[in-house]
Amino acid sequence: MDNFYPFENTPLPYSYDALEPYIDTKTMELHHNRHLQTYIDNLNKALNPHPELQNLSLEFMLKNLCRLPAELSLALRRNGGGVYNHRFYFDSMTTASTLNPQLENELTTAFGSFEAFKERFKNAALSVFGSGYGWLVYNGENYSIITTKNQNTPDLKLYIPLLNIDVWEHAYYLKHYNERNKYIDDWFNVVNWEKVYMRKGGQIG
Ligand code: MN
Repeated sequence: MDNFYPFENTPLPYSYDALEPYIDTKTMELHHNRHLQTYIDNLNKALNPHPELQNLSLEFMLKNLCRLPAELSLALRRNGGGVYNHRFYFDSMTTASTLNPQLENELTTAFGSFEAFKERFKNAALSVFGSGYGWLVYNGENYSIITTKNQNTPDLKLYIPLLNIDVWEHAYYLKHYNERNKYIDDWFNVVNWEKVYMRKGGQIG
């Protein structure tokens, strides 16, 4: 993943039709090729006049928005968040979704059962009013389910993000129309659980 200016729209790790029938080809193409591309273009545009920021990683900028020039923070939150959240979302899906047994055990401990975890995650994603994301995060000790509005990211100083679902309508409207609940049910079939568990091995800091 290239995390530095100038940002580029790297190809997905699977083809646009790979997640059929759960996520349709046209949605994946528009989502990656147009929506994410726009965030990348606007992030580059925001950073273009600021060579002093161009050697900072995307994660560093998102962690330290309050220390960056105030006139830039909105553009970086929206467009930097848009790049981070979308890449994270696309990298959280796979054509070969298999449940990692250690992760299943840990989520069962944390939420009562794996089905209970899915139910809580689904309800959180359904609860986002308007546009945003549902997230599974880890703080080094505990798992939590949280939501973010628009293109906000979880607080990266507090949490290691493990999994997200994009619930902006553009993520599902062509196939699922206004039925976000059906999109979420379909999406559970393409989650890359191995990737989720691998991310938990990362460090905060
Ligand atoms: Mn999106």
